[in-house]
Amino acid sequence: MHRRVGEITHWQCEQRGECKARIHTKGMEIVKRTNGHLHAPDVQATACSEIKAGIKRKARDTQDGSHHIIGEGMLTAPEGTAAKLPKLDSLKRTIQRQRASVLSAPVQPTALSELVLPAEYQRTAKGAGLIKIMIFLKKSKKSDFFDLNQIFLI
Ligand SMILES: [Zn+2]
Repeated sequence: MHRRVGEITHWQCEQRGECKARIHTKGMEIVKRTNGHLHAPDVQATACSEIKAGIKRKARDTQDGSHHIIGEGMLTAPEGTAAKLPKLDSLKRTIQRQRASVLSAPVQPTALSELVLPAEYQRTAKGAGLIKIMIFLKKSKKSDFFDLNQIFLI
């Protein structure tokens, strides 16, 4: 929980009802600290956010199925934490959202001039600059600009 007062941000402990710990920050620096925490750090909440972050990272960086990714995340969860994680459906939606943001497919071109190759498809895995891409056109995608069965080499 935080609130800005000019350049200073006031932070309250997440358990502010029971705990009086407060800090003031200016930029990245703690400028004032009042009261210590009256409780141990919430280890399970921290573990939960780490597991969720790991699931999001794997959704973006791997082709693994969502069950596999979630299963792996659960395996790393300390005792008692798995129950605090979001429900399976919600985790699956998180994975889908992450993937959609990375893999947003380019718009179907109707003219050669509209053909845009995203940067990540213009490099080989070894980072080489120029690669050749073959585009096969289906009958249904025929347009004035493409001849049927034509193969472009870019
Ligand atoms: Zn506290």
